[in-house]
Amino acid sequence: MVAENVKNIRRQISEVCSRIGRDSKEIILIAVSKTFGSEFIREAISAGISDIGENYVQELQRKQQELEREPIRWHFIGHLQRNKVKYIIPWIQCIHSVDSLRLGEELSHQAAKHNRTLDILVEVNTSDEESKFGVKPEQTIMMVKELLPLNNLNVVGLMTIGKFPENPEDSRPTFQLMRHLQQQAVRDGILLPHLSMGMTNDYHVAIEEGATMVRIGTAIFGKRNYQH
Ligand SMILES: *Cc1c(COP(=O)(O)O)cnc(C)c1O
Repeated sequence: MVAENVKNIRRQISEVCSRIGRDSKEIILIAVSKTFGSEFIREAISAGISDIGENYVQELQRKQQELEREPIRWHFIGHLQRNKVKYIIPWIQCIHSVDSLRLGEELSHQAAKHNRTLDILVEVNTSDEESKFGVKPEQTIMMVKELLPLNNLNVVGLMTIGKFPENPEDSRPTFQLMRHLQQQAVRDGILLPHLSMGMTNDYHVAIEEGATMVRIGTAIFGKRNYQH
């Protein structure tokens, strides 16, 4: 099931890319495995996935231990509390949800202890009241500039969570806003190569608007059951 889903999504990503003249190699497919056990992640790895996204520190720690030998790049995509940074810092590849200087400072500080440099993205709150997290669009460039001097972080891009639209077209203005922020950064001399946007419902639209990382859960692993 998982293997077939991954194949199907890869095909769709290729189709979108060839339609709009992008190279599908630019798109990093992150399989979002929250609530699914390690056996599902193993299936995804067998199907060629190497990037896994998780939302919760404890759940991520458990799976990382279970899958220590697998060649996985772990992405943290949920809200991250500063006091939990230390648990994931030795092996996390990329944090998508940085929305304050204090969190950035803690990440840089802990990364320094482990002699490593971490990729981060600034989370942009594009839906106002619906999400408590992320910086306002108009504050995004300023946040990027504050994070840039931190020694052990690479600010590689911007991330947003769309509005869980019924119609994927409803996400397009949000994704366009993200692209405009990326272009605004370039005008200020800051290269932000990555846009992390697009989920099961709207990743096609996100790729059309410049996404380089799509975060897909349901279409790979099936519907989530939060009881377990
Ligand atoms: C759960 C989650 C996803 C995956 O959502 P699907 O709709 O299942 O593809 C992507 N990004 C974030 C931040 C998530 O929390």
